[in-house]
Amino acid sequence: MKARKCPACGKDVIGRTDKRFCSDECRIFYNNALRKRKRSRNRKQIRAIIGNIREMDEADAKNLLRLLERISKVFKIMSTFAKPREKRQ
Ligand SMILES: [Zn+2]
Repeated sequence: MKARKCPACGKDVIGRTDKRFCSDECRIFYNNALRKRKRSRNRKQIRAIIGNIREMDEADAKNLLRLLERISKVFKIMSTFAKPREKRQ
């Protein structure tokens, strides 16, 4: 059997076969870092979109913002139907 490596610190993971991290500290550290990276990527994308909107003429920008508002409403409605993922047998 291949030894699994902790994705946070690289040490061997000992224990259950579905265990991914060597310790709770590593699991928390890794997931926080992942979340931070995702958040900063989202922020960068939003900043880029805002920059693009500022370069548009006013009519186009207004239309785009209206469209984005409508899309976000649809996503909100969709998320109310989303169920937590069930475990596969
Ligand atoms: Zn670790």
